[in-house]
Amino acid sequence: MNISESVYLVGSGKYGMELSESMDCNVYLLDGGNECALIDAGGGIEPERIVANIERSGFAMERVRYLLLTHVHGDHAAGAAYFHDRYGLEVVASRDAAPWLEAGDMDKTSLNHAKRGGVYDPDFSFPACPVSRCVGEGDAVFVGDIGLRVVDTPGHARGHISFLWDGEKGTRSLFAGDAVFAGGRVVLQYVWDCHIEEYARTIEKLHRLDIDRLYPGHGPFLLSNAGRHIGKAHDCFSRLELPPNL
Ligand SMILES: [Zn+2]
Repeated sequence: MNISESVYLVGSGKYGMELSESMDCNVYLLDGGNECALIDAGGGIEPERIVANIERSGFAMERVRYLLLTHVHGDHAAGAAYFHDRYGLEVVASRDAAPWLEAGDMDKTSLNHAKRGGVYDPDFSFPACPVSRCVGEGDAVFVGDIGLRVVDTPGHARGHISFLWDGEKGTRSLFAGDAVFAGGRVVLQYVWDCHIEEYARTIEKLHRLDIDRLYPGHGPFLLSNAGRHIGKAHDCFSRLELPPNL
């Protein structure tokens, strides 16, 4: 589904548009011209549905060269191995998170904890996946004609990164994963890698970035005025309160 000049929504589960398997996060395809990237991979239960959405949007899988991961929770990264093994996508992940993905570590990715809490089915698996490139704050990532900048955004998860893009029609866009959502919502969870102080610092940082377009990991995307939504989360933290959870 084409949602802006160069961005397509190709996966989205029960906390979004029900476009693909219900455990999938929002999966975006970024069209850089001669090559494309996926932002996040979904949960890997029925990844063929994401491929069908990519092809329905007019893209051959051969053009999709990279998989950029915001973080390695199951609903964002358990599908990574499928795209790597089946289509040869080069996986880009943060320095902190890459070893957990490469080991399929169900503790560091909080998956075992989330399974005990009933968030995932008991048989949900997290296949290990090699990482081609580890990135962190300020690193540039090129997808064809498009240049993205990595922003460290921990809080929701250790090693969480977002991808900042100054480009589309003079706007500033952010692929934010689970760092912030429409309405200034967040996802704070009782898991080892969620950290309230880091979350507050991340929201402060994103607030200063003055984002126009927000492509979050769940729920609706925003094609203008995203800064106003992020400002709501910032106001909550400024009052020492927690923003509402998604
Ligand atoms: Zn997450």
